[in-house]
Amino acid sequence: MVKHVKCKSALSVSKLPGLDWALNPYRGCAHGCLYCYVQDVTGFALDRPWGSAVEAKVNIAHQLKAELAKGVKGVVGVGTVTDPYQPAEAELELARSCLALLKRYDARTSILTKSDLVARDLDLLGGWEGVEVGVSVGCPDDAAASVLEPGAPSPSRRFAALAMLSEAGVDTYLMAAPIVPSASGSDSALADLVRRAFESGVKRVMWDGLNPKPVASQRMVAAVPTLKADLETARSGAWSSRVRIRLSEECGRRGLDLVDAF
Ligand code: SF4
Repeated sequence: MVKHVKCKSALSVSKLPGLDWALNPYRGCAHGCLYCYVQDVTGFALDRPWGSAVEAKVNIAHQLKAELAKGVKGVVGVGTVTDPYQPAEAELELARSCLALLKRYDARTSILTKSDLVARDLDLLGGWEGVEVGVSVGCPDDAAASVLEPGAPSPSRRFAALAMLSEAGVDTYLMAAPIVPSASGSDSALADLVRRAFESGVKRVMWDGLNPKPVASQRMVAAVPTLKADLETARSGAWSSRVRIRLSEECGRRGLDLVDAF
């Protein structure tokens, strides 16, 4: 059930590196990833199961237009808190309306999503020099990902969307995050992630480990008790260094840049 709400402003100042502004058409996220730490950071809907509460800011494009008309300098990050391509976006087209405005006002734009719905907007994204699109896949195996990310489109669908965007000339990258030790931390899974990124035509891979924040950790262990060991492993600097080295080797072999996330 998506609740329709109104926002007072579309853009907020971003504290993320490389982004000046944040634009989030939705609060909450139907993708319901077990490891998601949005509730830890925002305190949103703590009394409800994660994935069940989504708010759509139905007037966001109207607000954005007024803000862009006043002049906005810098890079606008779309989907800095929750995914801009919610399932409801297929019908509501809030992200799409905002992207059309950002393109019209020539605003540099960086999109991050875990949904292949982004490929719907190829007509806007193709030929737009000021946009980049990151697609998140932290675990390349569809079956394992369906446990960790129960409401999200499969990794196969996400890689297919990346390939479509790259083929159309859009500046794309893979957000290889989070790497979950038991699901995607093996050498073969890391190699598979980078291979499929390469085959999808991206120029770079950004990566991040698992952030064991309290609400997210509790959710993970409640859903899959064996993930407790993953959380302990992910706290280790040695594990993180090993993952980074393996990704770096794989990216190096394929001529891709590896970037540390945020
Ligand atoms: S897609 Fe992103 S915002 Fe949505 S639940 Fe997953 S990690 Fe959280």
